[in-house]
Amino acid sequence: MTLQYGIIGPGAVGTTIAYELLRSLDTDQVHLFGKKAWKVPYRQRDTGEQSELQTQTLAHFDDTLDVLFIAVKTHQLDHVIEQMAHVIDDDTLIILAQNGHGQLEKIDYPHVYQAVVYISGQKTEEGVIHFRDRILQVQEDEFTSELAQHLADTRLELQLKDDIEVEIWYKLLVNLGINSVTAVGRQTAAILRVPEIRNLCRNLLEEGQRIAEAAGIVLPETIVEDIMKIYAGYPDEMGTSMYYDIISGAPLEVDAIQGFMYRKGQELGLYTPYLETVYSILAAAENGKLNYK
Ligand code: NAP
Repeated sequence: MTLQYGIIGPGAVGTTIAYELLRSLDTDQVHLFGKKAWKVPYRQRDTGEQSELQTQTLAHFDDTLDVLFIAVKTHQLDHVIEQMAHVIDDDTLIILAQNGHGQLEKIDYPHVYQAVVYISGQKTEEGVIHFRDRILQVQEDEFTSELAQHLADTRLELQLKDDIEVEIWYKLLVNLGINSVTAVGRQTAAILRVPEIRNLCRNLLEEGQRIAEAAGIVLPETIVEDIMKIYAGYPDEMGTSMYYDIISGAPLEVDAIQGFMYRKGQELGLYTPYLETVYSILAAAENGKLNYK
């Protein structure tokens, strides 16, 4: 059976998913949806491969998709949900390829999965550049297992997980520390050279660990040290998405990352002063209450 695949969001993640599908599947099976129809210049840094991917708009598509990947930023999701009803039905597998948590509740269809995304890339004025990795982690069940078989000949790695919540929370914590300090401090990973900032990162991670534990998520006991070690390996010049977004004045994914964790902590009656402070500052920046520029 040949499946029809759609990808909404021709940015770093979405264009990579579309490119990898197009490499192995028929062109008429893969549809990349953008805000407008155009050709996205695309380059992979590790392989040197280059291409141009044609986008189309959802409004001009009148088929039903078997699989839909949604790869827009978290604050762009509501608009996509309003636009996508005519290209899906109750059998469509919908994979939310986003950071953060809590967005799934917005999508009222039977087969919706939060993916944990390990695809690194960046959208620039010139197009999309892919840096490394082609991994999407999803909850294992009969539907995702079947999809993994369909994708077996592609370079996209659909990793099936016993308990996707653990993977989602692990990624949330990784994002929590480094995204927060680079965005609040408006500096790249070089900011971690400052001992007080390393301390702040550790405190944020410890609060995140306590929230996860209280929410019943079993993470490794060593998670804070494990993540601090990952951060220590980051090159000074590395920026995070939240860093690039705040310096360019773009909306932040703060509601789905820091906001989700903060609300969860509140719900569970936890006192998380570091998270509360960072979240408040970023939320205020997001609302334009502080002029960061
Ligand atoms: P991105 O580069 O900004 O791509 C999002 C794309 O979706 C943009 O081209 C955007 O257009 C488009 N879009 C927005 N609303 C749309 C709509 N209604 N219809 C069609 N297209 C629409 O974002 P990304 O970096 O791929 O990130 C996607 C998600 O993956 C985020 O949650 C991010 O945190 C996560 N993630 C990213 C990376 C990474 O390395 N980039 C790694 C892991 C996870 P405009 O630009 O015109 O708004």
